[in-house]
Amino acid sequence: MNSTHISRRTVLQSVGGGALAASAAAHTGSLAGGPLAPWTPGTLDIHHISTGRGNATLIVCPDGTSMMVDAGATYASLEYTVAPIPDGSRRPGEWIGRYAKRHLQAAGHGEIDYFVLTHFHGDHMGETTAGSPPSKDHDYLLTGVTDVEAVVPIRRYIDRCYPTYDYPIPQNDPWTGNYRKFIASQVKRGRSVERVRVGSARQIALQHKPRSYPDFVVRNLAANGEVWTGVNEESRHLFPEIASLKPADYPSENMCSLALRLSYGPFDYFTGGDLTCGTQYGEAPWQDIETPVAQIAGPVEVAVMDHHGVTGASGPGFIRALRPRVFVLFAWDSAHPCMDTLNAMMGTRLNTGPRDIFSTAMKQETRIANRQVADMKSQNGHVVVRVAPGGKTYHVFITDNADESDRVIAQFGPYTCA
Ligand SMILES: [Zn+2]
Repeated sequence: MNSTHISRRTVLQSVGGGALAASAAAHTGSLAGGPLAPWTPGTLDIHHISTGRGNATLIVCPDGTSMMVDAGATYASLEYTVAPIPDGSRRPGEWIGRYAKRHLQAAGHGEIDYFVLTHFHGDHMGETTAGSPPSKDHDYLLTGVTDVEAVVPIRRYIDRCYPTYDYPIPQNDPWTGNYRKFIASQVKRGRSVERVRVGSARQIALQHKPRSYPDFVVRNLAANGEVWTGVNEESRHLFPEIASLKPADYPSENMCSLALRLSYGPFDYFTGGDLTCGTQYGEAPWQDIETPVAQIAGPVEVAVMDHHGVTGASGPGFIRALRPRVFVLFAWDSAHPCMDTLNAMMGTRLNTGPRDIFSTAMKQETRIANRQVADMKSQNGHVVVRVAPGGKTYHVFITDNADESDRVIAQFGPYTCA
C-alpha cells in the first residue's frame, strides 16, 4: 500500500497523524484520532447512532435536508443487553437529540426536517416507564423520539399508520399511546404528520436546494405489507385481508415495518426497520415480507440489517437481493446477531462479493456464543457512512460512543459504488 491510496480494508486506529491518516484526510476531511469533520454541501452523511438502547439514524442529505429514522429507547434488562451508551446519566432519546443537534448545527441547520418511524416498538420510538418524566405541557412522557424533539425541533413526521392507527389492529398499547399523544400535540403546534405513501419518491424531498441534486431520491419501498412494484409510484398488497386471518396469524408489528431506499447517483442505501422473513415453518409464506422488499430495493451499496440480525430476519432472500458491500447492524442484545444470520451474511453462497459488517455495539456474551462476530470490521461505536458529492464513492467512519467527542477511531474506504 502506498501513502496516496487507502485500501478499502485499511483501518486507522486511534493513533492520529502519519501518512495514512493524512491521506485519508485528503479524501474525507477527517483524521483518525481527531473529531469527525463537519458535513459539507454535496455530501450525504448517514449516522447510525450507538446508544445500546435501540435504533436511531440521522441522515444529512446533500443540500442539508435532515432526516431521522427511528429514535429508540428500550429499558430492557441489563442481563440481556449492553449498558446504556455512553452512560445512564441521560435517557437514550436525550443522547440521540444531542447527537443530532451538534451535527446539524455544524451543518448550519437547527431542525430535523423529517422524522420517519419504521414501526411502533420501543427500541424504535421509545418505551415509557414509571420514571419517565412528563413533557413541558404534561401532554405525554419523555422517551425516544419525544426526548429528541425536546432537544431539536422536528418539522414533519411520517409513520405507517397516521391518523387512524388501526392496522392490523388498533394501536393502543401504552408506548404507542404515548407516541400518539405526542403526535397529537405536534399537530396542534402546526407540525406536519403523514402516513407513508408506499411507492412515492416525492413524499420525502430535499427542502433546501432540490434542483442542485436531481439524482438524490428517497423511495418509500414498503409498509403494512404494501410494497412498491418498481413501476412509477405503484404498489401492491402482499398480506392477506385481515378479515381472512385468525388473530394469531395477523401480521406482526415487525412485518408491518416501513422501508426506504436512499439513492444518490450510483450510491444506494436500504433501511427496513424490523422486517422479517420467518414463515411459521412454511405455513404462512406471505409472512416472508423482507424478501420481496429487498428484491425491489436491491442491489445496494449499504444495508441496515433487518431486525438486528435476529433469526427469522436479514435472511437469505434479503442478502441475495441486496448484496451490500457494507452491512450495518444495530445491536445491543445478546441475540444481536444470531449465529445463523451472521453465518449467512459472512458466507459466499448468497453474496459472492466482498462485504464488511459494522455493529453499533456488542454484548460480550454474544462474542463468546457467536465466534464469527470477531470477523466484523467493527463491533462498537457510531457508524457513519459518508458519501462523496455525486455518490460515486463513500467511506465508513467509526466514531467513539464513550462520550460526545465524535472522535474517529477507525476509518474504512474509499468504497467505490457499483
Ligand atoms: Zn427493533
